[in-house]
Amino acid sequence: MSAPMNVALVGIGKIAIDQHVPAIAASADWTLAATCSRHGTVDGVAAYDDFDRLLAERADISVVSLCLPPVPRFDYAAAALRAGRHVMLEKPPGATLAEVHALQHLAEAQGLTLFATWHSRMAHAVAPARAWLQDKRVTRAHITWREDVRKWHPGQDWVFEPGGMGVFDPGINALSILTEILPEPVHLTGAELEFPDNRATPIGAQLRFSGNVSADFDWRQEGPQTWDIEVETDAGHLALRMGGNVLEIDGKAAAGENTIMGEYPALYARMADLVRTGQSDVDLAPMVHVADAMTLGRRMTVAPFDF
Ligand code: NAP
Repeated sequence: MSAPMNVALVGIGKIAIDQHVPAIAASADWTLAATCSRHGTVDGVAAYDDFDRLLAERADISVVSLCLPPVPRFDYAAAALRAGRHVMLEKPPGATLAEVHALQHLAEAQGLTLFATWHSRMAHAVAPARAWLQDKRVTRAHITWREDVRKWHPGQDWVFEPGGMGVFDPGINALSILTEILPEPVHLTGAELEFPDNRATPIGAQLRFSGNVSADFDWRQEGPQTWDIEVETDAGHLALRMGGNVLEIDGKAAAGENTIMGEYPALYARMADLVRTGQSDVDLAPMVHVADAMTLGRRMTVAPFDF
C-alpha cells in the first residue's frame, strides 16, 4: 500500500462539495491538504484564496485538482504545471481545444501527469456496454439528454457565457460515453443549436453524426429527467440509462446500479494510478464533437432564459 498523496482542491463550489470532497475523504490514496477558492472553504482544511501563495508555500502538495468552470481553469492549470504539480481537470477539460493541447505539451515538457477527467465514463454500466458492443455492428444510435438547468446549475450564469458551453456542459457527458462505447469513431455532420435571445450559449441542440448516430440535448426539461443512449446493432438493442449507470440488452436489465456515487472515487483512483506510473490521460474526442457542432451548427434564436 503506497502512502497517501496530498492534493489541493481549487474552486470550492457545487461539484467540489457534492463529489470531490467526499471522494477524497473516502480514499486511502489521497489527503485533502488545502483548498484554494475566493469564497469557498472545507471545514478543517487549510484554505487559501491566492493560488500563487499556495504553490509557493506548500511544497508538500504534489497534485492539484481543478473544479473551476472551464474558462478560468487554464491559468490555474498552467501555473500548477509550471510549479511542478500534477494536474487533474474537471470536464470539459478547457474552454478551447487549443488550450488543452497547450497544457498537454506543458505537462509533457515538465514530466508531469495531466488527467482530463470524464466522470460519466466511470458510470457503472459504461464498461459493460463497451465490452458488449465491441464485436457488434452498430446500425443506429440515439442520445436523449434532457434535464432542468435550474435544478442542476441554479443561478450559474457562467454556463450561458462564452466558453460555458450551454447545454453542451451536460451534453458532453453523453458524448464522453458515446466516444467510449462505440466500436468505430463517428464525426458530426450537422446540428441545430437553440440560443436563448438573451444568452451566448445554446439551451438546446440536435446533432447528427456519421453512422446513423444522433443526439437530442435539452436543458428545459422539467419533471422526470432523461439521460439515455440507445444503440441498435446487428445482434440486438442496447440501452444505457441514468447517465450510463444502468445497462439494458433487448429491454432486459443486464448490468449497473442506479447511483452516480461511484464516478468520482473511480476518477481519483485513476489519478493515483496515473501519478504513480508517470502517465497522462487526455482524450479530447468528446470536446471535438462540441467544437464541431459550434462550427457546423445552424444557430436558431429561441425564447429568453432567466434562472
Ligand atoms: P460552480 O459551483 O459555479 O463553480 C465552482 C467554483 O469555482 C465557484 O464556487 C467559485 O468559487 C469558482 N469560480 C467560479 N468562477 C470563477 C472565476 N471566474 N475565477 C476563479 N474561480 C471561479 O460550478 P460547478 O457546478 O462546481 O462546476 C465546475 C466544473 O465542474 C464545471 O466544469 C462543470 O462542468 C463540472 N461539473 C459540474 C457538475 C454539477 O453538477 N454542477 C457535475 C459534474 C461536473 P469561489 O467563488 O470560492 O472562487
